[in-house]
Amino acid sequence: MKYTGVAAALAALAVAACATNPVTGQKELNFMSEAQEIQLGQEMDPQVRAEMGVYPDTAWQEYVQSVGQRLAKASERPDLPWHFAVVDVAAVNAFALPGGYIYITRGLLAHLDSEAELAGVLGHEIGHVTARHAAQAYTRQASVGIGAAVTSIFFPEAAPYAAAAQTGLGVLFLKYDRAQEVQSDSLGVRYAATAGWQPSGMSGVLDTLGRISAASDRGGVPNWLSTHPQPADRVTKVADDVAAVEAARPGTRWAVNRDQYWQRLNGLVFGEDPREGTVRGREFLHPEMRFRLSFPAGWKIDNGRQQVTARPAEVRDAMMSLQLVPEAQGASLESLAVGSMQKSGFTRLGGESTRLNGIPAYVGVYDGRTQDGQLLRARAAHIRHEQRVLLLAGIASQSRYSQAEGAFAEAIRSFGPLDASVAAQVKPNRLGVTTVRSGDTWQGIAERTGGLIPASDLAVLNGLPANSGPPAGQRIKIVIAGE
Ligand SMILES: [Zn+2]
Repeated sequence: MKYTGVAAALAALAVAACATNPVTGQKELNFMSEAQEIQLGQEMDPQVRAEMGVYPDTAWQEYVQSVGQRLAKASERPDLPWHFAVVDVAAVNAFALPGGYIYITRGLLAHLDSEAELAGVLGHEIGHVTARHAAQAYTRQASVGIGAAVTSIFFPEAAPYAAAAQTGLGVLFLKYDRAQEVQSDSLGVRYAATAGWQPSGMSGVLDTLGRISAASDRGGVPNWLSTHPQPADRVTKVADDVAAVEAARPGTRWAVNRDQYWQRLNGLVFGEDPREGTVRGREFLHPEMRFRLSFPAGWKIDNGRQQVTARPAEVRDAMMSLQLVPEAQGASLESLAVGSMQKSGFTRLGGESTRLNGIPAYVGVYDGRTQDGQLLRARAAHIRHEQRVLLLAGIASQSRYSQAEGAFAEAIRSFGPLDASVAAQVKPNRLGVTTVRSGDTWQGIAERTGGLIPASDLAVLNGLPANSGPPAGQRIKIVIAGE
């Protein structure tokens, strides 16, 4: 794995060099040369693209590149090999790698209101690179060893980004500290203004992000608020920066480019990408891998990139998990099942080879324990479907197991092939634009447009408060079913 090589290279730097910070001009401890920064970015960029996916829309990619390059030219490090990409992720976030690699999720693009806001976000991320925050964060993380954090596959909350950490992407999810956030905000405001964008775009971004719950986490990627701590005075500080920049350049006609931005938003894929599987009520459909199953009624399904999980609403010690198993060549399904469960610390109590709606599977019952010693029991199906092996497991504490076993077994029995005709109908939701009619409520608009997202999310998407109705005559974003 590439990560190991980079970590080893870093560890070999026995003595940290002292260098000048390009932004502050001050001498500081510097664990990475600029050449090393660039090399690290180059090595990790393909992993980011593979792990998260690149949003397949050339116009969006070129647009974000062009905005980003103009900002980068206005920074203290215009000659880094800057790269900007939209990753195919529904979570609201943006990341920077050392060396000038910047990523923004399509989920964040959907929540922005104008090109000036986009410039604010990209300028902020550029600031993390120019002020060497990204390099410092990586150095810190490499020294504690991100690969070592990987624990049981069944408890994603114990190692929420284990798979990402394994591929070296854990660096993206490191929190910056408050001082670094405030500094990047200031830099973002300055770069945007220097390049001609209305600097208050950054304030608009912080307003909208403040309305998005820090708890939301889709597709295995944490959101902006969980990777970018928001000091209480951050919004005020940005407002001060904006006022100062505007006062220094009176009479400037700042670019906002709201209409052009909204034209681009129309048709942007929104929410989970059904190519990675989609949730319909209690059903999970995977149109590309051509299977379906029903999770227990009333359980909350979380469709992550690494695994799909389902949990009962009230109970903490039971869950179901669906994921791909790296396949051992030539192994029988039974030996593969027992071997891979053993690697996770589970021993077999019993099991049988069977078929789930015609698809070969090995269903076993296993005992194991959590890291803190709690006894677990699992009902796990290893399923061979279209050249892949899938693991569908129900797992519970041993005291809960007998109560949950029926639900686990029923969900496993529901696994089956997905018809081509159904698969062809699964399309992503997209953003649309409409005008608010007099008397409209968020609830009314949500229902009229198919109820694809809750009314409160619709308000957040538009950067407006959910507790008052949308202003009549105003243009708003809506979410519509894909065609
Ligand atoms: Zn930040």
